[in-house]
Amino acid sequence: MEDAYLVLDKLTKTYPNQPRSAVDNVDIDVAQGEFVSLLGPSGCGKTTTLRMIAGLITPTAGSIRVGGVDITNRQVHKRDMGMVFQSYALFPHMSVGQNVEFGLQMRRVAKSERRRRVAEALDMVHLTHLANRRVSQLSGGQAQRIALARALVIEPTVLLLDEPLSNLDAKLREELRVEIRRIQQETGITTVFVTHDQDEALAMSDRLVVMSEGRVEQVGEPWAVYETPKNRFVADFIGRTNLFDGRVVGREDGVLRLEVEGLGTLSVRARDADRTSVTVMVRPHRVQIEPVHRTVNEMKGRVVQSSYLGDVESVVIDVNGLRVAAERTHSGRPLTAGATVRIGWGDADAYVIPQ
Ligand code: ADP
Ligand code: MG
Repeated sequence: MEDAYLVLDKLTKTYPNQPRSAVDNVDIDVAQGEFVSLLGPSGCGKTTTLRMIAGLITPTAGSIRVGGVDITNRQVHKRDMGMVFQSYALFPHMSVGQNVEFGLQMRRVAKSERRRRVAEALDMVHLTHLANRRVSQLSGGQAQRIALARALVIEPTVLLLDEPLSNLDAKLREELRVEIRRIQQETGITTVFVTHDQDEALAMSDRLVVMSEGRVEQVGEPWAVYETPKNRFVADFIGRTNLFDGRVVGREDGVLRLEVEGLGTLSVRARDADRTSVTVMVRPHRVQIEPVHRTVNEMKGRVVQSSYLGDVESVVIDVNGLRVAAERTHSGRPLTAGATVRIGWGDADAYVIPQ
C-alpha cells in the first residue's frame, strides 16, 4: 500500500518448543486513520501480533514500521501506542480520573495541560461525572470506556484493542461497538482491533485481516471478504454459509453448470472456468424458501429444523441427504420440522470459491 502508516513486514513469532510459529510471516499495511480488525479463531495469533506491535513481545523475525520509521526494537513506552485489553486492566487503587491521567504524568505533561486533556478524554467517552469514582465501583461497560479514555489521552500513534468487548453482555457490546467506532472516526486515530467475533469485525472495520494458524488468509473490506471469500476457511469463518462441492459439467456465457451430489445440476455465475471441480458458496439468506418467482436452481427438501429469531427464521433443510441452511424474513409462523418445501436461488446468488 502506498500510503501505509503502520506496516508489518514478514512479522514472525516462534515460541520455544512449539511445532509451528504463532505468527508466521505476516504482512499487514494499515493506512493513517484506518480501522483494521484482526479476525480469526482462538489461537490463530491475533494477540501475539498485537503485542508485537505494542512492543510487549519481541518478534522472532520481520519488522514493524510506523510512519516510515522502523520501530521493531523500540521500547514499549517509546512507541506511544494506546492499548485496551479484554480484562480492562485499570489501576485498582486509583480513581477514574487518576487512571486517565496516569499516562500524562509518566510523560511529564504539565498539570494544567493534564487537567484539560483528562477532562477532554472523559468527555469523549461520556463519563465526566465519574471522574472521582473508584475503579472498583464501575460496571464492565464503564470500565472499558475508561480504559479507552486512558489509552486515548496520550494521543497515541496507534490504538490497539485486544477483544475489548468480549467480557460484556450482548447489548452493551453492540453499544460500545458504535461508541468505539465513533470515537475512532472523530479522533482519526489509526486502530488495530483484535476479535474472534465476525459480527463485530464486519460492523466496525474499514478492512478485515482474516487469520488462521498464524497466517493471513485474506485482507479486504468487510463486504468484499463476506461476499467473495478467497478460500473455504474464510467462507466458513465469516458468517453462516452453505458450501457445495461440484463437478463442472458445462460452461457458457459466464455461467458454470455443476453436478452436485444430492442437489443435481446447479448453475452459478463465475468467470473462473479452468477447473474440473469447484466449491460453491451460497449464503443462507440467498436461499429462498417457496420462491415467488422461478429461480434457476430449484429443488425440493424437508425441513429438519427451524429457529425463530424474531427478525429472521433460520431453517435447515434436507435435500437428498445434503443439509442446506436457509433464512427467511417476515416469516410469521415458523416452519415445522418434517414439512416439505421448495427452495431455490439464482445463478448470481452463488459464488465459486477461488481456491
Ligand atoms: P489468539 O489471540 O488469536 O487467540 P495467540 O496470539 O494468543 O492467539 O496465540 C497464538 C498461538 O501461540 C497459540 O497456539 C498459543 O497457544 C501460542 N502461544 C501464545 N503465547 C504463548 C507463549 N507465551 N508460549 C508458548 N506458546 C504461546
Ligand atoms: Mg487473543
